[in-house]
Amino acid sequence: MQVCRFCETPVSDDKPAEFICNNRKCAGRRRSSKRLFRLLFSIGTETRVMNVVAFDRAAQVIFGCSAQEFFDFSIQHPCAVKIASKVLVGELLKVTLNTPKRGKAEHLRMTNIVPMSSDFEPVIETLRKVDWS
Ligand SMILES: [Zn+2]
Repeated sequence: MQVCRFCETPVSDDKPAEFICNNRKCAGRRRSSKRLFRLLFSIGTETRVMNVVAFDRAAQVIFGCSAQEFFDFSIQHPCAVKIASKVLVGELLKVTLNTPKRGKAEHLRMTNIVPMSSDFEPVIETLRKVDWS
């Protein structure tokens, strides 16, 4: 997703790279946007399956790159997103889950992700090895 580089307020994807941010902190100043990861995961524990959301810092551990880099990569290779979700299936991760601070959010947040498998490889590394021809 896209956010204001300054205050990190979400902005819609069709906004240009430079836009007027109306958030209180930015007060209508011209700002540029940046991309952050926001990933929905379905994770299984011993007893149940839960849907959790991972934001930028946690997601970067899995992807091994910034959201902007992954976005650029997926523009060149439109299947990248599909493949990325496939390579993550069955991956063993040790995660820290937090209840969202804001009451309305429906998913638990992953605040820390540690891959368990010793041959874990960040998604972007796997994708770079794919033969795209
Ligand atoms: Zn802003």
